[in-house]
Amino acid sequence: MKKTVKDIDIKNKRVLMRVDFNVPMADGKVTDDKRIKAALPTIKYVLEQGASLILMSHLGRPKSASDSAFSLRAASEALAALLGTPVQMAPDCVGAEVEKLAKAMKPGDVMMLENTRYHAGEEKNDLDLAKQMAALGDVYVNDAFGSAHRAHSSTEGIARFLPAVSGFLMEQELEYLGRAVANPEHPYIAILGGAKISDKILVVETLLSKCDKLIIGGGMANTFLAAQGLNMQDSLVEAESLELAKTILAKSSDKLILPVDAIIADKFDADANTQIVDVDKIPAGWRMLDVGPKTLELYKTSLNGVKLVVWNGPVGVFEMPKFAEGTFALARMLAESGAITVIGGGDSASAVKKAGVAKQMTHVSTGGGASLEFLEGKELPGVAALLDK
Ligand code: AMP
Repeated sequence: MKKTVKDIDIKNKRVLMRVDFNVPMADGKVTDDKRIKAALPTIKYVLEQGASLILMSHLGRPKSASDSAFSLRAASEALAALLGTPVQMAPDCVGAEVEKLAKAMKPGDVMMLENTRYHAGEEKNDLDLAKQMAALGDVYVNDAFGSAHRAHSSTEGIARFLPAVSGFLMEQELEYLGRAVANPEHPYIAILGGAKISDKILVVETLLSKCDKLIIGGGMANTFLAAQGLNMQDSLVEAESLELAKTILAKSSDKLILPVDAIIADKFDADANTQIVDVDKIPAGWRMLDVGPKTLELYKTSLNGVKLVVWNGPVGVFEMPKFAEGTFALARMLAESGAITVIGGGDSASAVKKAGVAKQMTHVSTGGGASLEFLEGKELPGVAALLDK
């Protein structure tokens, strides 16, 4: 267990908080303020405790500090609107001028630092940069779960120079994702989808060691079906992962739930012709792009009475309406399951949102890559750096 901002005294202190304001932008405006809203509980708590608050984040991949398209100014304005108080925009994230501004802050003041990636040292976890960042505050709070799998100056290095604790969003992520890897409730069903096994092999193995059943769908399932000797025709199959799939099947076939039927297409296209067939009857020239109705029935029966579900990755090409039903139907089943439902970030988070059931999930992770690494059982550097309770 990591210390949270509630475990330390922050009254009259300068709280330096890493947030994930890596928000989508268009025409210099924030187009989706979900990540800013997600940080509000910690932000408000810090201000209510009588601290001043200095926020730091990365945004996109700027090549240099003169790349104003990656400024956090728009995010600071969006935050000011949500908070109803002014947010001062700093000209940089380190340096004499910023230190002066930080020293002049009073309890209740909020300042947003400029993009941490304006400095090349950030992604190298440059400790000199981290030390300069740390000079701005008295304590460090990390509420950026989505960046915690990267050891950068603002996520890992900085924690070596200040008392470092988690914010509430980080705490929530660790609690819910932690259940899946530490003490899961049973029956526990894990669901993995997405394109490639090679990206998810570690998570397959970790989940298999914890869960009662593992549903594998999406492109990943094709390689397993091919490993069972089925001709997947033009479906995405990773030849280099076939052996691995065979090994996993040999060891854990009783736990695996693979598709039994499929929605197939004559091309990889939103307007392709489609048909529903059993997975062993895919005609030449066709490919599997979604799971079929019999498979969804199988999912429904498996999910009956389940206590915990962890889901990462779509079971079909859900970006195209003709191949989205499997993923959306699965999302609705989770909403009705009565189980604790933990959704890994990225595509699955957007799928539950598109299916209109995001609010009915117990936890939708804000971190795609970070949640996957966490589920693999890895310790995230940005989390490891925080103080233990
Ligand atoms: P990943 O980034 O590995 O989680 O993969 C997500 C992507 O997998 C999504 O963009 C889906 O369109 C894609 N996907 C899901 N099912 C399939 C499939 N049967 N064939 C090809 N791609 C798929």
